[in-house]
Amino acid sequence: MQEIKLFAVVGAGTMGSGIAQVAARRGFDVVLCDVREEFLERAKNSISSSLQRDIDKDRLTPEAKDEVMSRIRTVIDLNELRNADFVVEAVTENLQIKRELFSNLDSMLRPDVILATNTSSISITKLAAATARPDRVIGMHFMNPVPVMKLVEIIRGLATSDETFDFVKKLSENLGKIPIEVKDAPGFVSNRVLMPMINEAIFALYEGVGTVEAIDEIMKLGMRHPMGPLQLADFIGLDVCLAIMNVLYEGFNDPKYRPCPLLKKYVDAGWLGCKSGKGFYNY
Ligand code: NAD
Repeated sequence: MQEIKLFAVVGAGTMGSGIAQVAARRGFDVVLCDVREEFLERAKNSISSSLQRDIDKDRLTPEAKDEVMSRIRTVIDLNELRNADFVVEAVTENLQIKRELFSNLDSMLRPDVILATNTSSISITKLAAATARPDRVIGMHFMNPVPVMKLVEIIRGLATSDETFDFVKKLSENLGKIPIEVKDAPGFVSNRVLMPMINEAIFALYEGVGTVEAIDEIMKLGMRHPMGPLQLADFIGLDVCLAIMNVLYEGFNDPKYRPCPLLKKYVDAGWLGCKSGKGFYNY
């Protein structure tokens, strides 16, 4: 595997901070980029608390935590990424934002650098087309919370090369994850199956079929899900859920994927789940 001296992560939200944490923990020097200083501060705090939980469970020493934290540099200027050897983006789930970012990264990075995206649902082929290196663009879909979840769904765009795929597969293993390959289709496999279930749970709530607690308990007790769908939606972020439903709806042109009006209303209200303090539950 070509050596990664500098591992870049763009977007320091829920997922970007988790990816940065895992990469730094595996010994990579990480540069983590977001658009505002306060978002980077929030990311550093969340990484620090996550590592502290590992200290509390005797899985990490305080010295090792300091070392991991010192390997993560945070920046707001995208140009600071120009020497990166690998980039994974985890910015907002929006095609325009991601395409613009990929186009900017493409013009600034060495031509051999792979651009990976953590998108939950957007076409890898579409994102790759915003660059002059479509063979080096790939989906690397981590699960939330990144330090805990083993799966990385790896998605090839139409032009993704075997070399890029092999590199990202090995890198995922190197990060302690289990990569599984899927084709480029709306929502890939994970969200094509998960998100309609969450959306249906929201419909059940919207139609008054059950309370929030009843719906979640039924899926926990009856289906052995570790977390109910509404709690999971809060955890993922209701804006992220809505964005994914819209990608499925538009991508398949099938009304079965229409987002529930209640989901839209919550997002309009700024009730985005855990990250905003209110969703189907209060935090
Ligand atoms: P988030 O809203 O928590 O974080 C996104 C971050 O990206 C924000 O801090 C925002 O300021 C930043 N950002 C936006 N535009 C930027 C730009 N041009 N440059 C730098 N930073 C920018 O979102 P998230 O939940 O971390 O999701 C990020 C990506 O990961 C999305 O594509 C999402 O679909 C995907 N994803 C999310 C989950 C989940 O459970 N939340 C799981 C898997 C994949």
